[in-house]
Amino acid sequence: MEFDTFADRAAAIEAEPADLEIVAQVRDLLEDAESDLQIVARFVQGRVFPAWRSTTLDIGPSACYEAIARAAGTNVSSDDVEDRLAEVGEIGEVAAGYDFGGQQGLGAFTGGGGGAGETGGSDGLTVREVFNTLESLAAAEGSGSQDRKIDRLFGLFNRCSSDEARYLARLVLAEMRIGVGEGAVRDAIAEAFDVPGERVERALQVSNDYGQVARVARDADLEGLDAMALEVGRPVQAMLAQAGTVTDALEEWAAAAVEWKYDGARIQLHHEPAADDTAAETSVFSRNMEDVTGALPEVVEFADEHLEEPVILDGEVVAIDENGDPLPFQEVLKRFRRKHDVAKAREDVTVRPVFFDCLHAAGDDLLEEPLTARHDRLRSVLSPADSGPVSDDDVEGLSLLWITDDPDEIESIDAEALESGHEGIMLKDPESTYSPGRRGKHWRKRKPDVETLDCVVTGAEWGEGRRATFLGTFELSVRAGDDLETVGKVATGITDEKLAELTDLLEPHVASEEGQEVDLEPEIVFEVGYEEIQTSPTYSSGYALRFPRFVGVRHDKDPGDADSLERLESLRSAQ
Ligand code: AMP
Repeated sequence: MEFDTFADRAAAIEAEPADLEIVAQVRDLLEDAESDLQIVARFVQGRVFPAWRSTTLDIGPSACYEAIARAAGTNVSSDDVEDRLAEVGEIGEVAAGYDFGGQQGLGAFTGGGGGAGETGGSDGLTVREVFNTLESLAAAEGSGSQDRKIDRLFGLFNRCSSDEARYLARLVLAEMRIGVGEGAVRDAIAEAFDVPGERVERALQVSNDYGQVARVARDADLEGLDAMALEVGRPVQAMLAQAGTVTDALEEWAAAAVEWKYDGARIQLHHEPAADDTAAETSVFSRNMEDVTGALPEVVEFADEHLEEPVILDGEVVAIDENGDPLPFQEVLKRFRRKHDVAKAREDVTVRPVFFDCLHAAGDDLLEEPLTARHDRLRSVLSPADSGPVSDDDVEGLSLLWITDDPDEIESIDAEALESGHEGIMLKDPESTYSPGRRGKHWRKRKPDVETLDCVVTGAEWGEGRRATFLGTFELSVRAGDDLETVGKVATGITDEKLAELTDLLEPHVASEEGQEVDLEPEIVFEVGYEEIQTSPTYSSGYALRFPRFVGVRHDKDPGDADSLERLESLRSAQ
């Protein structure tokens, strides 16, 4: 396909406001792309390479401005290009405003044809030539490579008509913006080659390559499309989470899968173990499918040591201290994406992987399996082959998972997560499949509290069994004039160590006891989080905190500094 034709079609699409019509135009474009289908399906979305490929053009805006300036003529400098950009606001428009062609010199000809000449018209540039040039440009490395890139790009611009230059500039700077989203290309592929949209969608999810999917849909139809599968070494988009509450999760699902939310960076591990005559191959990708293998040798070592089947695992890499306890996210950032001095950085910050999902194992694609089945597979993949049954705690690199419909249990998992230095919890639908790239309702990161309340502790209960010597289930109150009115109880999610500490703190203030119930003199203030404030006949304030959780003791506050009923009411009306 001539690049000029592509540019004309792109201009028409850009001018089209109606979504359905955009899909129809993309469909026509794909139908007409013939042998350039793969390239066109990517270009129309502003991509040069498949989404899974880590390759980038590695051309910054200033190199692009320089190439445009050179092609525009001796009297144009890259500063002029920048000035125009500041005025016009968009690089395509700037590039389209110059009259290219006729410039001589190294790289002025990218093969075939000459300069576009005085007219600034198209010079027979094809989509394939543009792609090949950009691909060779991406591969250029070493000293002088930036100049060679600019030369080649200049050669392309030098052969561009106004519309071609507009879309070439946007393509190079990954700013296509003609209104063609992923959904439009998916629908266009389905319409063009007469295959169901959801099968195209699935093929896209496993391959991450619109070009390949379009080609397979056309040349190998439905069967070929359905045969497309995950490949170890080729990253897929990560499934994402929405913010959500325990209330939402338990209302929508019969039970929730609860996991700790690790405070690290997302990784996708691809590992192919060593075979008779091949060495093991491991790749680690970031959430954006960037190859970060070189930065994380611990993850590669982990894979070599623990994995015996070809797998794709989803997880998080966390920085840890010398006891193996998690460190804050900022520490991981000192390691993640690092390209130089990795060994030195490793001396300062240690990382370890934790995996919470298994997308592929030993030839089986698991995206369509429910979360619980994927987790089972993950456990077996990570379990040492010769070990008998071991508890999840003992499986290195395995994220723990609890299935429960009990809010109290969720609170205690949350508290334990926080106390162990993690960020909180994730709530997942145990039945859900893995949807790459989707920020759906099936995964929820528990919403952090918008506000916390400082409540006076006015009562408690002695625990039972093993916890009989600890005060637990603390009654919380807010100030109402000179009185205190109850708003709820914070019962769970406090570890034995914490309970012992709180018992020591509160026991001196016991005013009276009846059975397990204890009245406390109002002396101690707790900071508590909650999901919602509801009206309730249960407590004397007339309100109840939904899912209250213990955040900490406010040693710096007296009961007189605790929150008031008015504040509770104003927080409620702001909900
Ligand atoms: P956020 O970055 O706030 O949107 O939260 C989602 C991110 O939490 C994911 O992309 C992961 O990097 C991270 N995360 C930590 N622990 C988990 C887990 N158990 N399941 C899923 N994602 C997790």
